[in-house]
Amino acid sequence: MHYKKLFTELENECKNLENNGRIASYISELGNVDPNKFGIHLTTVDNKNYGLGDSDEKFSIQSIAKVMSLALAFQIDENNLWDRVGVEPSGTAFNSMIQLEYEKGIPRNPFINAGALLICDILVSRLKNPEQDFVDFFRKVSGNPGIEYCPKLAESEKKTGFRNAALINLMKSYGNIKNDINKVLDFYFKLCSIEMSCKELSQAFLFFAANGTHPVTKVSVLDISKTKRINAIMQLCGFYDEAGEFAFKVGLPGKSGVGGGIIAIHPGKYSIAVWSPKLNKKGNSYRGMKILEFLTSRTESSIF
Ligand code: GLU
Repeated sequence: MHYKKLFTELENECKNLENNGRIASYISELGNVDPNKFGIHLTTVDNKNYGLGDSDEKFSIQSIAKVMSLALAFQIDENNLWDRVGVEPSGTAFNSMIQLEYEKGIPRNPFINAGALLICDILVSRLKNPEQDFVDFFRKVSGNPGIEYCPKLAESEKKTGFRNAALINLMKSYGNIKNDINKVLDFYFKLCSIEMSCKELSQAFLFFAANGTHPVTKVSVLDISKTKRINAIMQLCGFYDEAGEFAFKVGLPGKSGVGGGIIAIHPGKYSIAVWSPKLNKKGNSYRGMKILEFLTSRTESSIF
């Protein structure tokens, strides 16, 4: 594929895209972001890099970090992980409680909030110093010592984190949370507060496109089978209640976050990160989805 030419086309297409939707403001710090930001960065498995717009600017990656926490939990705890969390799309909002009650405290998948809280509980059980160990893992995998939590954002989320507190309490009542609730919640808020640029994200997630071993840092994160499984979960559960639409229109496994970021993977070829803060009604970046749809349609390169 001629990526340079493709990026010139993407740049033109970006100019034509309407900037519809709304910024997430239920976490007050997220409401302060400039709604016109727009960045794209693609990294190929042979480490060629193509970026445009605000691709070097850090933003709040929010739920995109949940893919990395799952990767770490899957790496260290393969035995009972899937007894405690499912791998099915939820068909409900990311912070919904209804299903969790029906299904007796077992979250549908690791990417909805309940599932990500469960993964945090596993990491709190298994790591000596969860916050430090997790960020060290993220830095080592990506070869990027500049990955940081944003304490101000985590604090801001904690102030309005009532739903997450409700979800974890419900799971605790069913015996599916093993640690102190506040400890797990604090770790979860920190995880969601990580700030990275599109360039940093696409470089960090490259191992998902390369059978689990990062082509640049050479860190072997997951074996082939586990990597495929996480890609499968991204495909089915990575876009809130719009994973079907994303598979239909874009056709790549990926994960979005309420900060307006999306990471998407083309196994064997590339990883790509986009960021545009305004979200559509389902909580995914409006322009982010549109530009990825343009990219895979133009290049006829969805995974299907
Ligand atoms: N920190 C956000 C929350 O728990 C994450 C939401 C998201 O990006 O999906 O509500």
